[in-house]
Amino acid sequence: MSLLVVGSVAFDGIESPYGKVERTIGGAATYFSVAASFFAPVHLVGIVGDDFTDVDTKIFHGRKIDIEGLERAPGKSFFWAGKYSENLNDRTTLTTELNVFADFKPKLPEKYRKSKFVFLANIAPDLQRDVLQQVTKRPKIAALDTMNYWIEGSNADLLKTLKGVDILMINDSETRQLSNEHNLLRAAKRIFKLGPSTLIIKRGEYGAMMVDKRGAFCVPAFPLEEPHDPTGAGDSFAGGFMGYLASVGNKSDISLRRAMVYGSVMGSFTVEKFGLDRLKTLKTSEIHARARHFAKLTQFTL
Ligand code: AMP
Repeated sequence: MSLLVVGSVAFDGIESPYGKVERTIGGAATYFSVAASFFAPVHLVGIVGDDFTDVDTKIFHGRKIDIEGLERAPGKSFFWAGKYSENLNDRTTLTTELNVFADFKPKLPEKYRKSKFVFLANIAPDLQRDVLQQVTKRPKIAALDTMNYWIEGSNADLLKTLKGVDILMINDSETRQLSNEHNLLRAAKRIFKLGPSTLIIKRGEYGAMMVDKRGAFCVPAFPLEEPHDPTGAGDSFAGGFMGYLASVGNKSDISLRRAMVYGSVMGSFTVEKFGLDRLKTLKTSEIHARARHFAKLTQFTL
């Protein structure tokens, strides 16, 4: 089953203790699409400027990513720059330039409108809602990611969009900010009142936690000796998670738990190198080998 995503397709500037790049391809929807395409065909909705060349578009070629919904407009592409702390756990945003996204009015190609799995990657909440409303039948799963930039700047819009969403997938500080609650389980209860019935909290090197009415389920992050750049790890997690669900076509508890593992697997590959470098060379066999490694990592008897 194909998977629809809307979100930023961007140029990023990244600074980590392991190096610095002034301008590389990034964007939430880019990381998501590349990660998810290992599992299921992806339909991408977004916009780039005329600075996004045919060479840049190559990131989507040779993968199961349909870019009919990727509009090209005069002007500059979304640009984001961030800097990581020594231990890579904290990130400061240095620049966010919406550019062509400021006036983007997405129009879904006909074949995208029947999508059963929809991911509203990080971008303006009104754009996310606009895309969701163009999907003709209620999807099996609509999931959403957002960040402090939108929680602070477009809160009312975000609350409106959340009403139509099944799964909210955000990090721990965003969870606390959105819910005004420090404890993550209590935060989940507040978030359930906003619309989503499942909350997935991405916790960087501490893994990820899924909370729904049945309780909580946790996966670790894959222990890496040399993480280089966490940019896009959350989007890659979402790509592995949603891609896996679209590949099995259901949202049973067992599938959701396996999807959490594939999410963590994809996030772990992304942080191994800068930007999209590791995902570019990744092979399906490596994904499955790491998933098996996760099973070993968490196996125990009582
Ligand atoms: P992550 O590290 O998973 O939070 O995602 C990083 C990606 O999100 C980068 O490639 C950025 O281009 C993109 N990004 C950063 N800020 C925003 C924003 N306000 N809206 C949409 N995308 C963003």
